[in-house]
Amino acid sequence: MSFPPLREGLQGLEPYGAPQLSLTLAPVQLNVNENPYGPSPLVVADMAAAVAAVASSLNRYPDREFVELRAALADYLAKDTPHGIRSDQIWAANGSNEVMLQLLQAFGGPGRTALSFAPTYSMYPEYARDTSTTWVEGQRADDFTLDLERAAALIGEQQPSLVLLPSPNNPTGTALPHEAISALCVEAGESCIVVIDEAYGEFRRAGTPSALELLPEQRNLVVTRTMSKAFALAGARLGYLAADPAICDAIRVVRLPYHLSAITQAVALAALRHAPELLARVDELKDERDQTVDWLRGQGLEVADSDANFALFGRFADRHAVWQGLLDRGVLIREVGPPGWLRVSIGTPAEMTIFRRALTEVLATGDTDVSKATEVSTA
Ligand code: PMP
Repeated sequence: MSFPPLREGLQGLEPYGAPQLSLTLAPVQLNVNENPYGPSPLVVADMAAAVAAVASSLNRYPDREFVELRAALADYLAKDTPHGIRSDQIWAANGSNEVMLQLLQAFGGPGRTALSFAPTYSMYPEYARDTSTTWVEGQRADDFTLDLERAAALIGEQQPSLVLLPSPNNPTGTALPHEAISALCVEAGESCIVVIDEAYGEFRRAGTPSALELLPEQRNLVVTRTMSKAFALAGARLGYLAADPAICDAIRVVRLPYHLSAITQAVALAALRHAPELLARVDELKDERDQTVDWLRGQGLEVADSDANFALFGRFADRHAVWQGLLDRGVLIREVGPPGWLRVSIGTPAEMTIFRRALTEVLATGDTDVSKATEVSTA
């Protein structure tokens, strides 16, 4: 056996992650769906004061049940559903990545199956692998919507313990209608948890409802959210979910004690106090997204309808050449999704102007047909 003695299935694997290039090499970073706007000086000052206030008691473990934060998250989510959300319906962890891993730890495991429909978020199979859960992937339709009959048939056949579906989907931006979510919850039944990953939920277009509205009807429904995107708090690591209290209670069995640091809790609470200001930028980003989609279509490109803070566009005979051509012009986007497609995160108007100029040049120079050898993530 080679050293280190990794378990079977992990040997030779690379850690997940988009390439992180320096700002010198890629001054315009539109590759990981971050919010381009940092917090204002007022919010920064409030966060700093909140951290200072807990700093003197960092010799003590934090509130293991993060009671205050749960209540604040419940209050925040309540605006997205007429039924309200109680704090015993909330669970949180270090990013929705950790929330989802905990869901797999609690409800997946050896002999159990987790299922999604591709193209989908590339971390899901990793949560399954890490928890020794069998991973099954169905396919979305050509327009990236979910073919309900096929989806239901796959669920019936595989009898999964978890179904994981981003809505809006990453990397396509496609949101699921309520009918689809309800039908999947019913088809899956109570021996299966249906996770609707609303990491990009706040960016959905007018008229697209949140799955939170369905919680009272569907006991096996879990809706996950994150503060990484709309709240511009990717660096703080705070993800959360809303679900039946019994589901939140079950996750407590697998969570590490004190998994949410006092600092994380303080920063998240400060951000939630400033929710209106932080979220004001979401409307600007949605406008910029819609303009980007229109502009890309104007260039004769195919663009998936997007309810998120990114757009998937194509199709290119050689997408890597387009990605490289943009990088040569200082713009880093993501080579992800089905063959031929690329994903661009929505940045500031100034960044999007540079992106448009760079893409116009790349398309005009015919670089798209030329493959240049460069190391690139395809995850
Ligand atoms: N779900 C989806 C669909 C995502 O795209 C991401 C991040 N890119 C996450 C979850 C995880 O985000 P975080 O851990 O920062 O909350």
